[in-house]
Amino acid sequence: MISPQIIEELKYRNDIEDVISGYVTLKRAGSNLVGLCPFHSERSPSFTVFTGTRSFYCFGCGAGGDVISFVMRAENLDYMDALRYLAKRAGIELPDDGTGQTGGVNRERILAMNREAAKFFFSELGKSPAAQEYIAKRGLSSALVRHFGIGYAPDDWQALAKHLSSVGFTKEEMSAGFLCSVSKRNGNSYDIFRNRIMFPVIDVRGDIIAFGGRTIGKNPEEPKYINSSDTPVFNKRRNLFALNFAKNSCAEQIILCEGYMDVVSLHGAGFTNAVASCGTALTADQARLMRKYSKSAIISYDADEAGQRAADKAFALLGEAGLEARLLKVEDAKDPDEYIRKFGKDGFSRLLSRSRSRFDFKFSSILAANDLNTPDGRIKAAGQAAEVIAGIWSEVERDVYTRQVCGKLGLSYDGMKNDVARLIAKRNKKEKAERNSAVIREAEGFGDRVNPDRIKNVGAAGAEDTIIGILAMYPELIPQTAEKTGLAPDDFVTDFNRRVYEKMLSLGKGFDIGLLGEDFSADEVSRVIKYTVSRQGLTDNGMNVVAQCVEKLKKSREKEGLSLEDLIAKKRQRDKQ
Ligand SMILES: [Zn+2]
Repeated sequence: MISPQIIEELKYRNDIEDVISGYVTLKRAGSNLVGLCPFHSERSPSFTVFTGTRSFYCFGCGAGGDVISFVMRAENLDYMDALRYLAKRAGIELPDDGTGQTGGVNRERILAMNREAAKFFFSELGKSPAAQEYIAKRGLSSALVRHFGIGYAPDDWQALAKHLSSVGFTKEEMSAGFLCSVSKRNGNSYDIFRNRIMFPVIDVRGDIIAFGGRTIGKNPEEPKYINSSDTPVFNKRRNLFALNFAKNSCAEQIILCEGYMDVVSLHGAGFTNAVASCGTALTADQARLMRKYSKSAIISYDADEAGQRAADKAFALLGEAGLEARLLKVEDAKDPDEYIRKFGKDGFSRLLSRSRSRFDFKFSSILAANDLNTPDGRIKAAGQAAEVIAGIWSEVERDVYTRQVCGKLGLSYDGMKNDVARLIAKRNKKEKAERNSAVIREAEGFGDRVNPDRIKNVGAAGAEDTIIGILAMYPELIPQTAEKTGLAPDDFVTDFNRRVYEKMLSLGKGFDIGLLGEDFSADEVSRVIKYTVSRQGLTDNGMNVVAQCVEKLKKSREKEGLSLEDLIAKKRQRDKQ
């Protein structure tokens, strides 16, 4: 177990304001700091850092915790890795207790195995004429192949499994790392990637965290691409292919592609700011990751209808993440890779300079869909354009586009501006109503995944929340609570709060939120923070309040007990009849 002293040291050396400032622009608000939440998309800041209690809480999405839980969420690390990360950041040596474990499999081992697999794939590429032919056909230079570490998974069920096993990796590790599966028939490991060109996915720290494999076989039954699914070292929703290279050259602009080959081609042509989502449609997490490194994004998707639909969704996500996004219209080629091979670097540069904003993209299809020669058609077009403009976050942009629409459709600026303002007000009202109903549902305990027992006895659960909240803020009250009120874990109505209280008792006054991460999930830790946040505004958080809540809790348990006896009595009576 990690000692409270180490947690205290880590927290002391990694000031929460300092660490979070690396991700969020914080502004002072009274004694706290606020900013836009890095864990959900929002326009007005509900993410709050409480410097006094060295914790954070988002009133929008409920994420909360201390500096350790923040790093767990922001860097997608488990508890032990978050501690290592912070130790490294502060230059502290973490005592090695041999717990580099993630669900029984060591994270470092998986990374080492991925490196070994990438080396294997790379050397196999040189041995396969079919793979060589494919690489030549795609016009990839050997320098580019080396740069990306592109390799080849042989057309063989055992090649990688045998190799990895020969250098000491176990079946469990190969399965956990999504390189091999275990045959149900004979229990042997077999390769997941076969007869495929392999693209290693490397994170910004330089670790190989996953692979994407493109088939070069002719079998139409085989999927064109296989991508690593989530593993202890990889979350596909939170990583971008080639960000390890792009991060150094994308400060002004990042190019977002659909496929590995698009990215490789673009880098080969000198556009080193290109990335791709790893075998998924763009996610909000990926959009925020891009925002961390860049100001604006150019969406460079396939020219077909599916690509353009995906682009429209990406537009929305990038905008919400705060990136200025534009769209490339790839013409006379099916994707950016083909475009570069056809028209070269200069051709693609010209294409980039002609990229369009989401508004231009939408407005041109609105203009095409309506008959602008009739008043009806113009009114309809104006209404649709107003909807699009209302969805834009930047006021300056809204103004520019409003003027553009008025000019094009021959409308008055003031009228159009009012229409847009009305639509925005309507949307805000709807958003607020949705938020409120979510808050009400939560207060009633419906759909509570962290504490599903809450719904059974909301009153008693509320008393528990208060007890936990106060004790988390003032751990010195933990031993007193046990002694003076006799509160025992069994007195708790909800399983979640009981678990937290048990942990508190085991740590006594050495309790710290930072120690919860060992046994509790990020959402569970957030819940404890929520309890403390709801107590922070109140002046009375002493032993007397705890005692009152214990009283309330015990009473409700008694009532529960009585009603249970009632039930038994009733059942007996029924049985007699
Ligand atoms: Zn949030």
